[in-house]
Amino acid sequence: MSGNNTLRNGSRRAFLQLSAAATAAMAFRIATEASLAAEERNVFHPGAVVIDANENPLGPCDAARKAIVDMAPQGGRYSYWLKEEFVKTFTEMEGLKPEYVHVFPGSSEPLHFSVLAFTSPSRSYVTADPGYEAGMRAANVSGARVVKTPLTKTYAHDIKAMLAAAPDAGLFYVCTPNNPTGTTTPHSAVEQLLAAKPKGSVVLVDEAYIHFSNGVSTFDLVKADQDLIVLRTFSKIYGMAGIRCGMAIGRPDLLDKLDTYNAGSAMPITAVAAATASLKHERLVSERKQLNAAIRQKTFDWLTRQGYAYVPSETNFFMVDAKRPAKEVIDAMAKRNVYIGRPWPIWPTHVRITVGTQPEMETFQTAFDAVMKNPKAVSFARPADSRRIYADGLMLPRVSS
Ligand code: PLP
Repeated sequence: MSGNNTLRNGSRRAFLQLSAAATAAMAFRIATEASLAAEERNVFHPGAVVIDANENPLGPCDAARKAIVDMAPQGGRYSYWLKEEFVKTFTEMEGLKPEYVHVFPGSSEPLHFSVLAFTSPSRSYVTADPGYEAGMRAANVSGARVVKTPLTKTYAHDIKAMLAAAPDAGLFYVCTPNNPTGTTTPHSAVEQLLAAKPKGSVVLVDEAYIHFSNGVSTFDLVKADQDLIVLRTFSKIYGMAGIRCGMAIGRPDLLDKLDTYNAGSAMPITAVAAATASLKHERLVSERKQLNAAIRQKTFDWLTRQGYAYVPSETNFFMVDAKRPAKEVIDAMAKRNVYIGRPWPIWPTHVRITVGTQPEMETFQTAFDAVMKNPKAVSFARPADSRRIYADGLMLPRVSS
């Protein structure tokens, strides 16, 4: 009898330990654009055009590449001071205090940690629909109610609807420009949200794509010590998605709450060196913004001529209405070796296209036209060789910035 009890107690303890470990693992299973895109991705084939994850085909600028190479010999050390130099460079440029910036390997982590820190079963997570899904996945971990409100007619976040839908809000997520629409929410709307939000709630403004757009940053609201955290990443205009550097910018007491969930690993020193070099490149953002806008506009002009409806994005991606199930179009495009982005349940006939290089967009146009005009003709043979070429960069031409 007592033996049985011991056994039962032992297995109960083991079960509790296991479930604690499972909960901890869940807390750290962070959704990222890469993982979300990968849910749809299979294997890429030589010559593939990969425009499904809002990546930047230009990669890091030349100065960042040089900084990585120059830093590599010091890769045996945890060089924390490099992060300080990076923060100093950034905060001096933006007129922020250094303690208002925490650095992470990308912005996915601070997004996830913000949701864990400010939502719970009694404090909901409020977001736009269609909107970037990573925060919703994090809310599943914190047990928060996920409140999704449709965008306005101009594809901005509907602040009034967000406020009305969630008097119990813990965190309002405002992605501007919004993923997947590429459209911005006015600065004044964020101000309205801050003025009217429930006590104790926090606003998370995700500015991952702001450099591509004419949107106005909300750093001034951080400087005014408002209840908001702003996210920035080097994955987009700076072309460092695979190198990993991002930031949370906010009042120190808010950022400290994120750190509760942060394992606190040292940043990769190559990422910090590349990010610092990118910040110091004076024309990088303006040149890349201009190039992206020109390729996007050419693509929009083509879509208009062909009679396809699209959302007027300000970023490096846009939604096109295929007027038939998105998955069907994505699969047909993949058979033509062109990988386009995933659908959102609220817009089941829209597909998300990332702006690639001009030649990539021309390949996209040919494939899209063929798929749209002849949905059944998808018999483009895949090469027998099924190497995953995405990682080795075979289809990513080296383009200097
Ligand atoms: N926020 C938005 C809106 C994104 O689309 C992404 C990635 O695509 C991220 C955050 C996170 O990117 P990263 O972790 O590469 O900084």
